[in-house]
Amino acid sequence: MKKFFILITIIFIPSCAPKPYYVKPSDWKTPESKDSVINFYSRFVKGWKIFIDPGHGGQDRKNIGIKKRVVEADVNLKVALYLRDYLTKAGAIVFMSREKDTTVSLQDRVKMATESGADIFISIHHNAMPGDETTFYASTWYHAVEGDPGFHPSNKDIARYIQRDLAYALRISGSLASFDGTMSDYLVYPKQGFYVLRNATMPAVLVECTFFTNEHEERRLSIDEFNQIEAWGIFKGLAKYLQAGVPKIELISDTILTTQKPTLILKVSDKSGLDKQSIQIKIDSLTIPKDHIATIDERNFSIILFTPNFNLNPGVHTLDVIVRNKNGNSSFPFRRNFYIVKQTGE
Ligand SMILES: [Zn+2]
Repeated sequence: MKKFFILITIIFIPSCAPKPYYVKPSDWKTPESKDSVINFYSRFVKGWKIFIDPGHGGQDRKNIGIKKRVVEADVNLKVALYLRDYLTKAGAIVFMSREKDTTVSLQDRVKMATESGADIFISIHHNAMPGDETTFYASTWYHAVEGDPGFHPSNKDIARYIQRDLAYALRISGSLASFDGTMSDYLVYPKQGFYVLRNATMPAVLVECTFFTNEHEERRLSIDEFNQIEAWGIFKGLAKYLQAGVPKIELISDTILTTQKPTLILKVSDKSGLDKQSIQIKIDSLTIPKDHIATIDERNFSIILFTPNFNLNPGVHTLDVIVRNKNGNSSFPFRRNFYIVKQTGE
C-alpha cells in the first residue's frame, strides 16, 4: 500500500504544478535558422565592443526567488553568458564584469568597463517586488531624465530597442509606469539613479528581465532554455539598434583658433543620413542658434559648419554635440576641447 501511494505521488504530484508558459522564438525552428539570424545581424554587430555586467554574485546572493528555486545572481550570470555567446558569434568583442559566481563591487564593474574600452555597457538583473507576488514586467533602465545634465538620449535609444525585443521574447509587457517599458533610474533613486548607469563612461543600460518574486516567473527563470530566450531578446534588441546605426561625429577643423568667432567644422557619418532638425551644438554649455549652423550632405556623410553668436575669450573651450540619424538614433556623447589663442603681433 505504501509503495503504491508513493508511486501515485510520483506520477501525479508533478502534474499538479502548472507548466510554465514560454514560447520558443520563431527563428529557432532549427539550429541553422538560429545561426542564420545571428549571421544576418553580424554585419551590424561586428567589431562593436560590448561590456556585459551580470548583477550581484559571490558574497551577494541574498536575492532569492519566492519559492527559493533561483538565486538572482545565478540567473543574471546565465543570461549574460548566453548573451555573450550570441554577440561573440555575431562578431562583437565582449567583456564581462564576472564569468563566475564571484564578488565584484559596483565601483570595480564601472572601472573594468572603462578600462576595457567598451562602446556599450549592459547590466543584467532580475527584479523583485517584496510583498507583492502578482507584479511582473520587463524593464530596461537608462540614467536620469530629459533636461537633466546626466541624461543622454543614446542611453534611452539602446533601452528602447532592447526593451521591445526582450518583452516580446518573454511574452510579457513593460510596466504601465512607462509608455514604452523603458524606465529612468531616477524613478528608484531620484537625482541619483543607479551607480553603474550614473558612473559608466559609455552609453549604458540596465535590464531587469522579469520578477523572481512571482511564482510563475520564477519557474520560468529556473529553465535553462528560458534563460537563452531572455538573452536572445536582449541580443536581437541590441542588434536592431546597431542596424539602425549610430551617427559618428568628428571635429575636422583646427582645434587651435585665432579668431573670437571661429567657424568650426564637424563630419557626421551615418548610413541613413543626418536628421538636420536634430543638431544640438553647445560651446561652454551655451547653445548655438540654428541660424548659425549650416550643413552640406555628401554621399555617406554630412558636413556641419557653425559659428558661435558670441565672442570666445582666449583660452580653452568645450564643445558638446548631439545629432540624430534618420532612423531616430542619437550620436554617443561627443565632447571636445578647442583653444582660442591671441594672434601674434596684436
Ligand atoms: Zn539585481
